Amino acid sequence: MTAKLIDGKAIAAELSLTIADAVKQVTAQHGIEPGLAVVLVGDNPASEIYVRSKTAKTAATNMRSMLYKLPASASEAELLEVVERLNQDPTVHGILVQLPLPPQIDSRKVIEAISPAKDVDGFHPLTAGLLSTGLPGIVPCTPLACIMLAKKVHGSLAGMDAVVIGRSNIVGKPLAQLLLMENATVTIAHSKTRDLPGVCRRADLVFAAVGQPEMVRGDWIKPGATVIDVGINRVPGEGGKSRLVGDVAFTEAKEVAGAITPVPGGVGPMTIACLLANTLKAAAWAEGRTPARF
Ligand code: NDP
Repeated sequence: MTAKLIDGKAIAAELSLTIADAVKQVTAQHGIEPGLAVVLVGDNPASEIYVRSKTAKTAATNMRSMLYKLPASASEAELLEVVERLNQDPTVHGILVQLPLPPQIDSRKVIEAISPAKDVDGFHPLTAGLLSTGLPGIVPCTPLACIMLAKKVHGSLAGMDAVVIGRSNIVGKPLAQLLLMENATVTIAHSKTRDLPGVCRRADLVFAAVGQPEMVRGDWIKPGATVIDVGINRVPGEGGKSRLVGDVAFTEAKEVAGAITPVPGGVGPMTIACLLANTLKAAAWAEGRTPARF
């Protein structure tokens, strides 16, 4: 293997320890316990795993973790009522509604109902607007995780050629905004991009957020480039079991890249650590304090 492995799990564990210390200080000095409320609707097995991990990690960083479960048959009005209750609750500093939601519920309506001050996922249109205009606000967790991992390798990203594959509102677009703020030169690629392999080959930094298992091949990577794989795809594995793969063909890309994130153990754990950092930030803003920087 030529590429350096970017160990998201270890970097996230380090960040979580820093957050846990900061939470202790906030509680001791200001008498508040930052709290994250997670709302899970239905019984999607992947969502249940994510939520379990988020609630356990919230508690492990000394924050208050609250879980609200609604049945798969819950109506949009019922969910909006829960969100509104959490908006009004001063002990709740962050609200996360686990996506995807059942088909009878309009996710956009729910995201827009979350108070922007408690929008720790960073999906609210107001949060997106603050980010795109460079104003202080919550930064969406996964894009923030990607930037932190790339900066672990390079320190500064200034002047680097970055390609973001994917233009979703929750990953690709905010990630491109953050890269611009880091003074990288950014190309956003998508399903209509011509010669995607050629576009990737010019990049010092490749961020893959497409949701297509192992789509980015080894020969798309410029030798020595840094590859951050956001994708989480479940594919059939050995013995009838399933396994997780990213959007990058890891075994090929690691022979060419300078540094690469694995899946699992790359962006995923770092995303959760960033969620906790956002909750602590939201708690500071709620009290009119300047949040700690990570
Ligand atoms: P979306 O489906 O919302 O967006 C996918 C993007 O990829 C779209 O912009 C689409 O282009 C583009 N795309 C799809 N197929 C191709 C293709 N063949 N060539 C080029 N571009 C293509 O996905 P998300 O952004 O929500 O998620 C992306 C991946 O990241 C998923 O695997 C998801 O599971 C994972 N993820 C991981 C997280 C983590 O914590 N690690 C958190 C969030 C997501 P177009 O716009 O033209 O349709």
